Amino acid sequence: MKRSSLEIVECGHCRHAEAMTRRGATWRGVDFPALVGVIHHAQEGVILYDTGYDAAFMDATRALPERLYRLATPVTLAPGESIVDQLATRGIPADAVRHIILSHFHGDHVAGLHNFPHATLHCACAGLRDLRARSRFGSARRGLLPALVPDRIDQAAFFEDATPVALPAAFQPFDRGADLLGDASLLAVELPGHCPGHWGLALRLEDDRYTLLVGDAAWSLTAIERNMPPPGLVARLLGDAAVQRSTLAALHRLHGGRPDTLLLPSHCSIAARQAGLQA
Ligand SMILES: [Zn+2]
Repeated sequence: MKRSSLEIVECGHCRHAEAMTRRGATWRGVDFPALVGVIHHAQEGVILYDTGYDAAFMDATRALPERLYRLATPVTLAPGESIVDQLATRGIPADAVRHIILSHFHGDHVAGLHNFPHATLHCACAGLRDLRARSRFGSARRGLLPALVPDRIDQAAFFEDATPVALPAAFQPFDRGADLLGDASLLAVELPGHCPGHWGLALRLEDDRYTLLVGDAAWSLTAIERNMPPPGLVARLLGDAAVQRSTLAALHRLHGGRPDTLLLPSHCSIAARQAGLQA
C-alpha cells in the first residue's frame, strides 16, 4: 500500500449519555468529539475523511423537526473550530482540498461539505439513496440533514463503483477494499450496520502503520476492545443492530489479532491521541 500522512482534527463536539453509545456504560453526560481525518497524499494533496460540525449544522437544525436532532445531542462548536477554519490556520486554503471521503451521511460528518465546492466527493451510493428516501421527520430522527449535502453529490465517486482490491493481511478479518484513487493508497472498507452505506477507510501511514478509520462502526476504542455494541434501541433507530454487532465483533477480532493496526473511531480522541495523530 502506498503511504500517506494523517492528522486527526476535532471539529466541535456533542454531549450525550455514555450509555447511549455503549452497553453497560454510565448515564453521565460525556463529550463526543466530531473528528476529521486530514490526509496528505503525495500526488493528490489534501484529502478529508468526513467534515465534522460546522456553522451550517446550526442553521440546518434551527427549525423543527430538524431541531429535535440538536436537542437530542447538544452541539458545541467554538469559533474557528470548523475544519475549513482549522485548515486555514495550517495554511491550507479550501481549494487545496482535492477529495472528501464520507464515511456516511449523518449530520456531524457532512456539515462542513459546503466549504469545499471544488473537492471530488466519494461516498456510498447506498447511503445517498437512503438519504433521498426519507421524509423530513424520518431524516431528522435518524441524524440525517439533507440540507447539508450539496446537489453535486450526484456526481460523487461511489465506493460501490471503485475497483475492488484485496486488503493487506494487517486488516484481517476484513479482506476487501475499494481502491478510491486507483493507486492502492486509500481503500474504502464497508463497515455495515451503523446506518445504510457506512464505510471506513484503510490507509498506510508514512511510518508504516496500517490504519483503519472506522467512522461510527464503534464510538470508542474501548467499545472495540471490549466488543461492546451500543444499546439495541439506538442501533435499531439508526441502522441494523445485528449487522452492527457483527461488524464490531470483526473489529474486535482485528484489534486482538493485529494490535499494531490502528483503529480510529470518528468520536474517540483517546484512540487518536494514543496513536500520536491528534494534538
Ligand atoms: Zn453516525
